[in-house]
Order: sequence, then C-alpha cells, then structure tokens
Amino acid sequence: MKAVYSEEPGGPEAMIFGDRPDPEPGPGEVMLRVYGSALNRGDIERRNQGRSGRGPRIGGMEAAGEIVFVSPDAATDLQVGDRVLLENRIKCWGCENCKNGMDHNCTAQKRIGIDLDGGHAEYIAVPAECAFKIPDSMSFTEAAAISQGGHTALQCMIVQGQVKPWDDVLVHAAGSGVASMGIQIARMVGARVFVTAGSDWKLERAKELLGVAEGINYHETPKVSERIMELTDGKGVDMVFDVVGADVWEDSLLCLKPGGRMVITGTTSGSRTGMNLSVLQGRPLHLMGSGGRTHRSFAEMMKCVNNGELGGIVSQTFPLENVSEAHRVMESREFFGKLVLES
Ligand SMILES: [Zn+2]
Repeated sequence: MKAVYSEEPGGPEAMIFGDRPDPEPGPGEVMLRVYGSALNRGDIERRNQGRSGRGPRIGGMEAAGEIVFVSPDAATDLQVGDRVLLENRIKCWGCENCKNGMDHNCTAQKRIGIDLDGGHAEYIAVPAECAFKIPDSMSFTEAAAISQGGHTALQCMIVQGQVKPWDDVLVHAAGSGVASMGIQIARMVGARVFVTAGSDWKLERAKELLGVAEGINYHETPKVSERIMELTDGKGVDMVFDVVGADVWEDSLLCLKPGGRMVITGTTSGSRTGMNLSVLQGRPLHLMGSGGRTHRSFAEMMKCVNNGELGGIVSQTFPLENVSEAHRVMESREFFGKLVLES
C-alpha cells in the first residue's frame, strides 16, 4: 500500500511517500481503508528527531475511513462498510490503572502514528474499540480533523477546566487545531469566548465560524490582559486555555479572575517561565495540564460529534504524496484548523 513514513531526521523533504506492507489485522482488530488523516505538531517534532535506526514508521496520529475487515473474535458491533474515525491512544486494559478505571494513566498505552504505524496510509489495523462511527453526513476529511484536537480540547475544557455556561474563557492561538476544537466546546457549553491570534484574518474566521465574542491580535496588543480587563469590565476571565506556553504564561495569569483556572496543553513558544509565585497566593488560581485522556471521554466526545454539536475545522487538504508541502504549511502557521492528508 501507499503510505507516508520517516526514517532520517530532516526538514519537510525528509517525509517519504512510498510503498509499505499492508497491515495484517490481529485478534480483536478491525482494518480501515483510510480516506483522511490530519497532521499534528507532533508529526513535525518526530520528523525533526528522525527514527535513529529504529526503522520506518508510518506517521499520522489520527485517521478516518471505512471498515474493510472485522476480526471474527472482535467484541464489537462494527461491520464492514461502517464509516469511522479512530481514537489515537490504545489502552492495555491489563495494567493496574486500567483495571481501576483510570485508563488515562495506562502504563502500557500505545499511540497510533508514534508507537504504532499511523494513519498516513491507505490502510490501518487497530483494536476494534478504537474505531467510532461518524454521522452519515460527515465527510472523512472533516472526521479526520476531529480526533486528536477534539479529545485534547474536551479533556482541557470539560474534564480539567470544568467550563460552565456562565464562564468567560480566553483561548490562545485560535487558528491551531486544538484551540479551534476548544473554542467549539466552550461555545457548545454556552461560555463566552475571547481568542488571540497573530493575524486579523484568523480572528475574523474565529468569529464567523465559531462565534467567538472578540478577537485580540497579539502583535498589535502585546498586553492581552489589559484588553481582557476592558472586555470583562475589569473582572478578568474564569478560564484560560493555552497551547502557546512561555510567551503568554505570565500575562495569562493576569487575565484570570481570583480563583480562575488555567489549562495548558502545548508549549510551542517554550516551556520555561520566571513565574511570580505570589500571584498564586494572592489570587488562588488553579493551574492544570491536560494530562492523559480516558477511552470514556473519547466516547463522550463522539456523542457530541454524532449529535451534530461538534465538527472538524478543515483548513486545507493535500493528497498523501504531497505530505512535504503539508508540513511546510504547518510550519508557516498560515492556516486555521487542521491540515488533512487524503488517501
Ligand atoms: Zn493499561
């Protein structure tokens, strides 16, 4: 089959489009004909690192497609022809954490596209429990844009951040895949959402597509907290959802109300800060990381997808063979939502 994989470290040109053996589904597994597989920032990091002699690995942390084979012993209602998307994390269900209902901390979990071959291919085989049906009306391309960013955003907004309908929420880097899902989830609950981005066209897109209340261009307004105070009558927001890290950390703390929550799930600008700890003492804030995610919360997210409340935001699509071009666009940051490879 045709697939995209990497071996040696390098730039976008290090991604290889070529032939790999078809997957052989094992016990309890299903096989998909993949039609869409989105890019993640992690794909760039792994490309930069290379495989250092560990052999080729098909990339792609997510995939959507049609079931073409169901192992006879798979405990599933899925059938050949069903349209599905995949959960990225495959749990072991045998470790102590899995047995105790804490599979988000599974000590033997494997991630597709990282520990196992991924979705940038024509076919993929996975445990049946990782495949979830999508609505008939949803394209594979849109479905491919949901899985990873949606699960992470649900974890941050609902499980960790416990966003409420009466909350004011600030979401950084509105154009990123995970932020665009986070905005949707906060809006779905009913919260008022403010966003930041580095271009006015991204702020306009966030207003048109996702119904955010106000956008802040961080190039024109470096002190985002001052603008947030104006927008909230001097009160601040209840929650900040951050995928940026060091560059915005201290100012984000100043955006929060006393008792506010900050949830972070990315550090693209760096991960070290000179944090003023007295801020925590004076205005007891809740600082949280995204952490692991449960199989149950993925299923809950998929309920929202199948209810029509949550969808994928696709910025651009590329044929599988144009993976290097897709990596260049990812690095340029000139997109809103997800970049999807179609196979
Ligand atoms: Zn486990």
